[in-house]
Amino acid sequence: MTEHDLFSRMSRREALTLAGATGVAALWPRRLAALSRALGSSPLRVNGARLNDRLGTLSVFGKNPQGGVTRLAYSDADAQAREWALTLMRDAGLQVEIDAAGNLIGRRAGSDAARKPILFGSHIDSVPEGGNYDGDVGSLSAIEVAQTLQENRTVTRHPLEVVIFQNEEGGLIGSRAISGEFEAKELSLVSRSGKTIGEGIAFLGGDLAKLESVKRKKGDIAAYIELHIEQGGILDATKTDIGVVEGIVGINWWDVTIEGFANHAGTTPMDHRQDAMLAAARFTIAVNRIVTSVPGRQVGTVGRITALPGAPNVIPGKVVLSLELRDLDAAKIHTLFDRIVTESKKIGAENGTTFSFIETNVNIPAPTDPRVRAVIDRSARDLGLSTRAMPSGAGHDAQDMTRLGPVGMIFVPSVNGISHSPKEFSRPRDIENGANVLLQTVLTLDAEME
Ligand SMILES: [Zn+2]
Repeated sequence: MTEHDLFSRMSRREALTLAGATGVAALWPRRLAALSRALGSSPLRVNGARLNDRLGTLSVFGKNPQGGVTRLAYSDADAQAREWALTLMRDAGLQVEIDAAGNLIGRRAGSDAARKPILFGSHIDSVPEGGNYDGDVGSLSAIEVAQTLQENRTVTRHPLEVVIFQNEEGGLIGSRAISGEFEAKELSLVSRSGKTIGEGIAFLGGDLAKLESVKRKKGDIAAYIELHIEQGGILDATKTDIGVVEGIVGINWWDVTIEGFANHAGTTPMDHRQDAMLAAARFTIAVNRIVTSVPGRQVGTVGRITALPGAPNVIPGKVVLSLELRDLDAAKIHTLFDRIVTESKKIGAENGTTFSFIETNVNIPAPTDPRVRAVIDRSARDLGLSTRAMPSGAGHDAQDMTRLGPVGMIFVPSVNGISHSPKEFSRPRDIENGANVLLQTVLTLDAEME
């Protein structure tokens, strides 16, 4: 947005009030540039020491002897950590509620109650033997932002909501309950804690009878912002401070079955074989070649393989393997898949095998909002931080929020790109930077968005 656009979207009275509030002499229109700068970057900063200290405290809940945590959703450690987070949210002046789906929501009134809320947050459950940063950084930073606003008596126009979603790692349960994607039949699925999803929601203080009440519809939120560790190594390797997430990639899975002919491995000559394993090997190489043959950051993986009958002295007559493709652009995924199918026919014709594909899972890509991306980028640069636009190869609660309104995600570096591991680490300075970008982004969106 240019300065001109910014000003033209405000009434003159609003602009003068803001100019007065920021101490800029209201000399319309000569002070336009100064006013815009004042609006674009608030002098407020989070308390980085407090934030990093709290990350240390959170790491005690579910602590493992080898480092890191196992804080599975619906476990005692999860419930205790949520109880502790709830206290922090109250201390930050938020009106806290556990919604019917078990999400923690802390509300802060805006000056205009008619506006839709700006949401920000993340999750604090972990994978088995996970680290101390995935989800935790975004959750505690969101609370820190609320506390900073409270301490500085800053009132936003929009109501704000800090959200700590429940069970992100076990299928984005809390965020999907809010976005309307969660289905009642999932309540009986057993989570990694041993409790069913339904038992888990009740355990965290949710109310299964009122589960429907947490659903929101498109337009019910002004925006959702999530700060998260990158969980990959790009920011660390390129020494970039902040990742501006372009979207959460789409993920497509197929089961690929290759039929050949099982026969004696000793007596069947090499030129008389219909070897499904050989076809699978050529297929795996072809997937890699096709995925890397076009520019972009798409990825393709053959990650699981079963050869039948599975004996050293039998030529495999059948192979079942998995194919996974990920990209921000669903059309690109389909183009690549079509080329892979064409190639598989060629491989099959050459060695007497047939390929069949069954789609087993589709997660459609969830692009972030270009306006929110621009605000994140500008907020970071105003703080003197370097930025880089990038996709998220991992899933996040943010992808569900894209169904309700504009979404943005802020990444901070993961040292050596390690995540879902006790070795997961993000530097205190990077975490503080990320929280300040979150703060500035919330304030700028509050000033600029409807
Ligand atoms: Zn996460």
